[in-house]
Amino acid sequence: MLLQREKASDKRLFLALIVLTAFLVLSVLGLTYFVPTVGLSSFPDVVRWIFFGGVVFIGLVFTVILGFLAAVIALGRDIPIPYAKKLRSIAIKYFFPLFVTVGRLVGLPKERVQHAFVTINNELVISSCRNGKTPKRILLLMPHCLQYSECPVKVTYRAENCKRCGKCPIKRLLELAEEYGAVLSVATGGTIARRVVKETKPDLIIAVACERDLTSGIQDTVPLPVYGIFNSRPQGPCFNTQVDLEALEAVLKEINK
Ligand code: SF4
Repeated sequence: MLLQREKASDKRLFLALIVLTAFLVLSVLGLTYFVPTVGLSSFPDVVRWIFFGGVVFIGLVFTVILGFLAAVIALGRDIPIPYAKKLRSIAIKYFFPLFVTVGRLVGLPKERVQHAFVTINNELVISSCRNGKTPKRILLLMPHCLQYSECPVKVTYRAENCKRCGKCPIKRLLELAEEYGAVLSVATGGTIARRVVKETKPDLIIAVACERDLTSGIQDTVPLPVYGIFNSRPQGPCFNTQVDLEALEAVLKEINK
């Protein structure tokens, strides 16, 4: 229930950011059109053509933003999104930094925008799984801080070394990986995570991390679909962190429907 409320709030925030960005882009478009037609009439043709190019470019940006708006509204109503994969790649590559900047302009913390971004990304990943083939090779990519800090076993790279004592979520994650035919990997940082992805060549990654690491991981691996799940940090960042295992299993079930 709490998760649903969080998701709804993320979608509302993202919608507001898209509308605000569209408004700003439209204002720049209006100005770019107005200046050469009215104010630059005495300038040489080349200057007017440059401005014309600007108008076309900003117009295209505006059109794509409207596409996102439609997609987020459709996500809110559980309507399948056509071209969800493509839309996700464009949003991550080109528009996320713009949304963060607009968020900052209105005083939103970066972490809040990142949270909303991961939620929308996840919905698009699920939507593209529904539209296309079920991913065969799933990688469960976990941060090292999930492991109990006093556990003497080394599980990075070799999660199967875990003795399954149950003091941390690694035990259940191993069971889930076995049940759903996924690969479980525990990484100590971005470099190792990238190497694991290269070696396992997954069709889909389910990654657990904080807002910052999930956002950068999703950006790094685009167009590979990454479903992000936030860890919880009851003892502070990067120490004995936890993950909602039921939510993770629900994602595995949804993908394998
Ligand atoms: S479940 Fe595995 S990784 Fe976690 S503390 Fe026990 S042995 Fe260590």
